[in-house]
Amino acid sequence: MKFRRLRLSGFKSFVDAAELRIEDGLTGVVGPNGCGKSNLLESLRWLMGESSAKSLRGAGMEDVIFAGTDRRPSRDVAEVQLQLDNKDRKAPAQFNESDEIDVSRHIERGLGSAYRINGRDVRQKDVQLLFADAATGAHSPALVSQGRIGAIINAKPQDRRKLLEEAAGIAGLHVRRKDAEQRLKAAETNLERLSDMLSGME
Ligand code: ATP
Repeated sequence: MKFRRLRLSGFKSFVDAAELRIEDGLTGVVGPNGCGKSNLLESLRWLMGESSAKSLRGAGMEDVIFAGTDRRPSRDVAEVQLQLDNKDRKAPAQFNESDEIDVSRHIERGLGSAYRINGRDVRQKDVQLLFADAATGAHSPALVSQGRIGAIINAKPQDRRKLLEEAAGIAGLHVRRKDAEQRLKAAETNLERLSDMLSGME
């Protein structure tokens, strides 16, 4: 799945609605210091389900909302939307209905954030799995931010293995295995209760 178009509104320094087309091949973002290059990358990571405000250089998640300047008042809402190319139809079955997939995350002061895929409300986990299956995600080494290369070089072997699993697109399988194990455990507990009830009735 390729990233096609990124739309931001009210996210950090991107107070006005902005739209970026993402072409095939390597994408580099250039500009003077403080123009918002890192904010752009952070908007992608936020959309993909980043839940740590600290890793987005904030104290709380609402810090991603435009905080105002001397000339412009702060905003109460921020939204990031990403259009994915799904012509190869590799998306999970429930989102695989069209050649394009729209993913969005929205945050409102005091109300928290919500995700949508193709206009439908979804869980954070659904968004994280969608990107994990596409071998990317909020912590993907494909998004190279400042200090990231040093962190990868110094990473512990277990953490490097996680990076490789993410790059291979199998990170989502671990999440699904954990889910399946929990469901299995719940089913076993229910069976035990049922057999207790049945023996009580005999
Ligand atoms: P450098 O090249 O120095 O790394 P950069 O282009 O990566 O800079 P960013 O770090 O993305 O720049 O953007 C920094 C700017 O974003 C600062 O001017 C900062 O005030 C602004 N900024 C960050 N968060 C917010 C926010 N919530 N509201 C308004 N502006 C914000």
